[in-house]
Amino acid sequence: MQFTDLGLSADILRAVSEQGYDKPTPIQAHAIPVVLGGHDLMAAAQTGTGKTAGFTLPVLQLLSTPSTAAHTKPRVLVLTPTRELAAQVEDSVRTYGKYLPLKSVVIYGGVGMAPQTKALRSGVDIIVATPGRLLDHVGERTVDLSSVEIFILDEADRMLDMGFIHDIRRIVALLPKKKQTLMFSATFSDEIRVLASTYLHNPQQIEV
Ligand code: AMP
Repeated sequence: MQFTDLGLSADILRAVSEQGYDKPTPIQAHAIPVVLGGHDLMAAAQTGTGKTAGFTLPVLQLLSTPSTAAHTKPRVLVLTPTRELAAQVEDSVRTYGKYLPLKSVVIYGGVGMAPQTKALRSGVDIIVATPGRLLDHVGERTVDLSSVEIFILDEADRMLDMGFIHDIRRIVALLPKKKQTLMFSATFSDEIRVLASTYLHNPQQIEV
């Protein structure tokens, strides 16, 4: 399996090849076609497996289709448990999307709201956020989640461990009913299965 077999556009393949990646990792080989096919996904994958590119690459590809929102409202929301992970994921979005006309913004707590607000106001396609600060922005009306097409819960097990379930529920309630949802978790606990059965529709499952 090569990256060129996965149906990704030339602009994305160019950014991937600049990273020096030789082949897709197993999670990428399995997840990319599922996401491109528009399916919901429940993936059990640890950090270090290449899971970030596993969802970022196909999501960037899906965003190549024109939006009715025209860069004013985010089309993709990625939730992560920590600011470090949010920053890493957004960095990947920038790296793999460097040849695409897409804007991403990272949102997390512990720093001032103002620079994030300014970035959000200048237009955003992809938000990568930790839950609490995202809800702060929702409260300030600097974020409108009503046009999100793809919702990704990264490290869902850590989100539950850190007590984010109520924030997640509040955020999901603000998203359109019709959307594609992807969940990544290092473990497939009962709690994670319950979360998956609540938020995913006919998900494809991947364990690597
Ligand atoms: P992740 O599991 O998403 O945190 O990724 C772990 C590391 O693997 C990151 O530093 C990526 O840059 C790297 N990586 C992702 N995909 C590939 C690939 N196909 N080949 C080699 N390295 C990769």
